[in-house]
Amino acid sequence: MDKLPSIDEPHLMEFLSGLLNTPSPTGFAQRAIDYIEKSLAEFSFIQVSRTRKGSLLAIWPGASNDAPRAVTAHADTLGAMVKEIKSNGRLKMSAIGGFVWNTVEGEGCTVFTSDGRHYRGSILLTEASSHVHGKHVAETKREDETLEVRLDALTSSASDTRGLGISVGDFIAFDPRLEITNGFVRSRHLDDKACVACVVAAIKSLSDAGLQPAQTTSFLFSNYEEVGHGAAAGIPSDVVELLAVDMAAVGEGQSSDEFHPSICVKDSGGPYHHSFSQKLRKLADEYEISYKVDIYPYYGSDGEAYWRAGGDVAVALIGPGIDASHNYERTHFQSLEGTTQWVAAYLLSEMMPGENS
Ligand SMILES: [Zn+2]
Repeated sequence: MDKLPSIDEPHLMEFLSGLLNTPSPTGFAQRAIDYIEKSLAEFSFIQVSRTRKGSLLAIWPGASNDAPRAVTAHADTLGAMVKEIKSNGRLKMSAIGGFVWNTVEGEGCTVFTSDGRHYRGSILLTEASSHVHGKHVAETKREDETLEVRLDALTSSASDTRGLGISVGDFIAFDPRLEITNGFVRSRHLDDKACVACVVAAIKSLSDAGLQPAQTTSFLFSNYEEVGHGAAAGIPSDVVELLAVDMAAVGEGQSSDEFHPSICVKDSGGPYHHSFSQKLRKLADEYEISYKVDIYPYYGSDGEAYWRAGGDVAVALIGPGIDASHNYERTHFQSLEGTTQWVAAYLLSEMMPGENS
């Protein structure tokens, strides 16, 4: 087995940092989609287009086209929308995606108005000060009614806030708070920006080495995954395999960790495609990519979104281990590197569907 082409590590980390710092809550992910599109422009052989739904489809012609493939990762993240402007001028939120309010309490945020302005603020309990509310602060259940956005703007009434141009339905992005130390990458929204970075890094590693994929490959950067239907549309209908690249869930009882890529063989949506998963495991073994095999108990992916939408393809899921997912997330560069290598190995693989089932 040939060696895999080398990965441009500085490029991977620079791309990832830029993407993490680009706000993209589901429904408002176009800035991240723009960012990815711009970075793919250096690969003149990749044909890029937008789906009507707003995701980015990048097609790289392969050495063969008799069993075309797709790889997907999502550009959208958790976030919120303005649900209501309160009489004190602060904002009540409606959550976008599956997270609990505790995980964003105290976080900085940006509110994007429909006329293009943006305001900074923070997410706080309605009764936040322990000097005023005592032990009540610890006891309050964190829910829609007990959290609000405090705007860093002069407002003390609903009409003041409306005067800022803020209205119901405006998007709220949570600060990523990115920090990179000793190979650890700590940030919100590594789900799934870490995987977008791995997929782009795999493309770049092949391209830098003058290689092309074994089969024509469509890369779908989806924009509605966190609400369950991201890749339900946008995968070309002749594709035979869909590799979803999304984070591995790390925690007690999980075999995944922050230092390896994982393959998920089952999640809330049931088992993934066995022979495709076996093929990926065999590839990893051949290239000496060490990985974990795992089951994620409360999890769904864009691969399953496509299956549910009627996609007749084999689906498998790999990705880097992310600690504290849908919270203040963290991974390690080793996990990103292994995931990138695995995607590159898959792109180069001649192995046909069902060959080792
Ligand atoms: Zn995800």
